Amino acid sequence: MIEEVGTHLYKIEIPLPRSPLKALNSYAIKGPERNLIIDTGWNQQQCMDAMQAGLKELEIDIAKTDFFITHIHTDHLGLVSSLVTDTSTIYFNQPEGDRIRSGISLNDLMDFARLNGFPEKELQRVPHAHPGFKFRAKGPLRFHYLKEGDTLRVSDYVFRCVETPGHSKGHMCLYEPSKKIFVAGDHILGDITPTIASWFDEWNPLEEYLQSLDKVYQLDIDLVLPGHRQVFRNAKQRIQELKDHHRKRLEEIVAILGKSRKSAFQVASRMTWDITYDSWDLFPVSQKWFAMGEAISHLKYLEEKGVIRKEMRQRKRIYCMNDEDGTKRQIPG
Ligand SMILES: [Zn+2]
Repeated sequence: MIEEVGTHLYKIEIPLPRSPLKALNSYAIKGPERNLIIDTGWNQQQCMDAMQAGLKELEIDIAKTDFFITHIHTDHLGLVSSLVTDTSTIYFNQPEGDRIRSGISLNDLMDFARLNGFPEKELQRVPHAHPGFKFRAKGPLRFHYLKEGDTLRVSDYVFRCVETPGHSKGHMCLYEPSKKIFVAGDHILGDITPTIASWFDEWNPLEEYLQSLDKVYQLDIDLVLPGHRQVFRNAKQRIQELKDHHRKRLEEIVAILGKSRKSAFQVASRMTWDITYDSWDLFPVSQKWFAMGEAISHLKYLEEKGVIRKEMRQRKRIYCMNDEDGTKRQIPG
C-alpha cells in the first residue's frame, strides 16, 4: 500500500505479521539522481515482498537508492541487509552502529530478564518468539554515521538530523525546516505509544525520552511521518499526551508497589496494558518481555529520582518505596 505524503515522498506500508504494531511505515523519496528509503521492515519474506512491490510501483531503482534508518529495532533496520547494494549508503547513528558491531549478547539480555524476575520456563521461549531475534539484519553492514545537526539532502528536501534518545539509545529523527516535515521513527507515534524499555543498567531511557520530547516540542512541525500507523499533524498536542501518559504510568507503578516488594516482572504483570488479552497469563511471551522492559524503564526513572530503591533477594532484584509509609509519594518532575 502506497500513499503520497509529500512531493516525491511516499509511504510504503510494510506488514508486520502477528505484531500488534501491524505494519512498519517505510518512506521513499524519489530524487533525480539518488533515492532515499527511510526504515525498511523485518528481514523476512512478507516484508521483502511488500517492499519490492512498492519499489516497482514507484519505479525506484534500488541500485540508485540510499537508506536512512531511524534506530536499531529490527522492524526498522532488519530488511536493509537484504536490500542494500554495492552502491548504496546506509545512514545510521553511531551508538547503535557500535552496538551492532560489538555484538548484541542474547545471554546478557536473558540474564538481565532473569535478574528482574522473568520466569525461567518462559524465558527459554524468548529467542524463538521475539521478532527482534528472529528477523534481525544479517551479515556485516557498513554504515555512514550521522549526528545531531548533520544534513541529508535528497530531491529538494534538506533534512536536519535530530538525536532523540529514549525509545532506543541512538534513535535519530529527521527534520525538514522549510517544509516543516518531521520524520519521527518511533519517537512520536499518533495513536499508539512508543515503548520505552530498559535492558541494561547503564542508562535511564525514560529520562532521556522525556528530554527528547521537550526538544522536539520546540520544532515548528506541520506534518509528522511516524514509523507506524497514520501520518499526523498535531505534534505538540501529541507530545503533551505522551508526557502525560508516562506520568500516569509512574503514578501507577508507585501505587502498585505501595508497601510491598516486587520484581519488575511482578510490577509489569499488574500494570494496565492496551492489548487484547483477558489476563496477563495469556500474554504471548514476547509481549511479556516488552512489558517487563517498559516496567524497568519506569522503575529506573523512579529510582534515580529517589522515590524507590532496589534490593536483592534470592538472586532476584526487587523494588520497594523509599518511603514505605507513603507520606512522600510525589514524583519529582
Ligand atoms: Zn522501535
